[in-house]
Amino acid sequence: MNSAPIGILGGTFDPIHHGHLRIAQEALEQCGLAQVRFLPSGIPPHRAAPRASAQQRLQMVLLALHGHPDFVVDAREVTRADPCYTVDTLTALRTELGDQQPLCLILGGDAFLQLHTWHEWHRLFALAHIVVLQRAGGLPLGNAMNNADAALKAEYRARLAPGAQALHEAPGGAIFVADMPALEISATDIRRRCAIGKSIRYLTPQAVTDFINSNQLYRSC
Ligand code: ATP
Repeated sequence: MNSAPIGILGGTFDPIHHGHLRIAQEALEQCGLAQVRFLPSGIPPHRAAPRASAQQRLQMVLLALHGHPDFVVDAREVTRADPCYTVDTLTALRTELGDQQPLCLILGGDAFLQLHTWHEWHRLFALAHIVVLQRAGGLPLGNAMNNADAALKAEYRARLAPGAQALHEAPGGAIFVADMPALEISATDIRRRCAIGKSIRYLTPQAVTDFINSNQLYRSC
């Protein structure tokens, strides 16, 4: 019998917000995960450089997770000076945790639809399961996949698991779709609000809001 899967949630977390925390909580409960590891990215290969420094983003994640027994921070990417790909991070985790430990890469639906653009993305399935959070009220993922990249669509159809039990029965290789209440929160919107002097209260944990305000982060566009 394998031990319960470990969830991996990567992101720039610039800043971390309640959307991130909620997808982690939904994945934890719906997939029966042992824990969720938050991995703030260092220099992201796929997008513009973050606005806050690596240390500030790490500090905000630590503040947001404080007191949650099943959420932990993994700082391995954020402390690296060179761009780091998810496939490399999962390879390192696989070496540390062993061949049999189930791992679940947690992604929002928007991120999953772009998976075919990730470095060596086919190898991800040999390293971990993928848990996709489907937003309530949005286009169901099954429908959105009709317009997805052909290779991604083929992987989705071949690997889709009917239930979360599949995540416990193998170390990786399945795709499981979990449900997520729609939370229209994004880091982009939080940065925009800061830049125009609007409140971000209740979009992030209060400790993160206080950190952003006391460090005067995101004050310009
Ligand atoms: P930005 O607005 O700067 O692009 P973001 O808020 O989307 O940032 P990321 O750090 O890029 O945050 O996201 C990390 C992961 O969290 C991605 O898989 C993304 O799909 C997911 N995510 C972010 N916000 C939400 C949300 N409100 N609901 C569901 N998933 C989300």
